[in-house]
Amino acid sequence: MESALTARDRVGVQDFVLLENYNSEAAFIENLRRRFGENLIYTYIGSVLVSVNPYKELEIYSKQQMDRYRGVSFYEISPHIYAVSDNTYRAMRTERKDQCILISGESGAGKTEASKKILLYYAVTCPTNDHMAALGDRLLQSNPVLEAFGNAKTLRNDNSSRFGKYMDVQFDFRGAPVGGHILNYLLEKSRVVHQNHGERNFHIFYQLLDGGDDNLLNTLDLERNPQNYHYLVKGNCPRLSSVSDKNNWKVVMKALPIIGFTEEEKLLNIIGSVLHLGNTQFGEGEEGETYITTETQINNIAKLLGVDGSALREALTHKKLTAKGEEMISPLNFEQAVSARDALAKAVYGRTFTWLVEKINHIMLWGLLDIYGFEVLQHNSFEQFCINYCNEKLQQLFIELTLRSEQEEYETEGIAWETVQYFDNKIICDLIEEKHKGIISILDEECLRPGETCDVSFLEKLEDTLGGHPHFVTHKLANGKTRRVMSREEFRLLHYAGEVNYNAATQFKNSLMKLMEILMSKEPSYVRCIKPNDAKQPGRFDEVLVRHQVKYLGLMENLRVRRAGFAYRRRFEAFLQRYKPLCPETWPNWHGRLADGVLTLVNHLGYKAEEYKLGRSKIFIRFPKTLFTTEDALEA
Ligand code: ATP
Ligand code: MG
Repeated sequence: MESALTARDRVGVQDFVLLENYNSEAAFIENLRRRFGENLIYTYIGSVLVSVNPYKELEIYSKQQMDRYRGVSFYEISPHIYAVSDNTYRAMRTERKDQCILISGESGAGKTEASKKILLYYAVTCPTNDHMAALGDRLLQSNPVLEAFGNAKTLRNDNSSRFGKYMDVQFDFRGAPVGGHILNYLLEKSRVVHQNHGERNFHIFYQLLDGGDDNLLNTLDLERNPQNYHYLVKGNCPRLSSVSDKNNWKVVMKALPIIGFTEEEKLLNIIGSVLHLGNTQFGEGEEGETYITTETQINNIAKLLGVDGSALREALTHKKLTAKGEEMISPLNFEQAVSARDALAKAVYGRTFTWLVEKINHIMLWGLLDIYGFEVLQHNSFEQFCINYCNEKLQQLFIELTLRSEQEEYETEGIAWETVQYFDNKIICDLIEEKHKGIISILDEECLRPGETCDVSFLEKLEDTLGGHPHFVTHKLANGKTRRVMSREEFRLLHYAGEVNYNAATQFKNSLMKLMEILMSKEPSYVRCIKPNDAKQPGRFDEVLVRHQVKYLGLMENLRVRRAGFAYRRRFEAFLQRYKPLCPETWPNWHGRLADGVLTLVNHLGYKAEEYKLGRSKIFIRFPKTLFTTEDALEA
């Protein structure tokens, strides 16, 4: 039988705060490993859910399971993503406060799967009428569409989200979902024109070629073999063993009308035009001028996008300059034409994605943040910088809010606050975002200046302003010598999660600040996802890999904050209810004030004064051992 108050699970502890040695990373990981071995992929740190990707289907997401979690409090039942879903939902209804669930973790750790489980929980369990059932359906159906256009196979994840997604789900006063909104940001547009070895472009291209019927492909003038398209061959990885593009195509085509999308023809024309753009080739004339050698492609693109062919030709081979109020047209050289072509493909795809999201937004609100995780690649460009900065900010928010809510709880319960030691990553966030002297300000300033030497001068400026900062490193050493392992175009940041070298890069988008504002205005819950191995295989727990994630997700920090004073806390009534059989005066029922009942009980059990405190509505127990002894007495 499940222990009602959850001191211990079948294996290990189901809340890390109950670890005897809460400062030990080894004990933390051992607890994760043992539970993972028993398919217990979820564990709490207080109210934070830690999840380890099982890489196999577990029988824990059925309707019956959902029913078990409905209306049940966090600690009464084993940890589950449904418990987080249900508690957030109830908090919204009872406290009437906006909620958000922040899901973080590295690529392939299970963030998107977690967000889908949460949505499924709401779609199935929230009260609905016919109209709302249709809405829930649309909410769910938006997923395969967004994934087709925004996800791709990477080395780490066959279905990696290549965009950040913040999803809001709005509920009416009865708690029924009535609408929603998706904020998308940082779509990795460079993937449209280039993929690293072993990676693919966005799924939709392969789905279209594999699943589209002959008629459709004829209309779009496309061939079935993805290897015929420049934009699809770079990674040399046209097929996936884990996914059927053909089946997913069917799913997406079925989902489009359900989510209220009626312009699928336009959508497919655009996707086709991007493939034709990729196959558009240029030649170089004697005078260095550039011309197009693939007329068919231009005609196809013009037809599919509904634009004038000669205007398109001109746009791909010439640029327009405005000087002193006069317009001048000058030819592009070969390289410039190639990058103009790629820029057009990226822009067309990027805008189509935004358009699609806007369409979905008409139907969709609950904050649900599923962003791609902290990334360290061989070459870390501006995109990685943005992603990692975003993760850095989320970490800051996480620590701030966890501390705040702990402090608030102590305050409401009338218990003295004890100071906590923790690593505050504010120093790194400031390094990036501070006005006038942060990396972003310097970047913005540099990008306003004309000229193509932006990268080097940007780096010099960074050195002038930030040289000597403990979290900022370039090739220059303090003694004037140079660090040989770094090139002059690189800078290195010491993030909370580890060190990353970046190549200096373009204008920063402020959407992140806006996102942070939104998140700050809501009551957050956290899901921290962990990837157990790099081979995407079930049953393998790579300790080195896991330790690294535990570190950069700040889980030990979180546990320390949570364990600052007390390992365990429970409302008086819940505590009495569970342990009243242990004391003749509280059994079978206590009739006086709850606090007196708890006091009678713990006195009878021999709790010492330093082992616990009584707040206004909760008992706080300092050491797990005290609780376990009490639990054992119950079982005896
Ligand atoms: P990215 O940052 O690259 O988008 P992610 O954290 O969103 O990564 P997911 O796409 O959610 O990662 O998970 C990767 C894969 O792991 C899934 O396609 C699925 O095969 C498996 N997986 C994740 N979570 C679960 C789960 N709870 N049960 C079964 N399989 C899972
Ligand atoms: Mg994802």
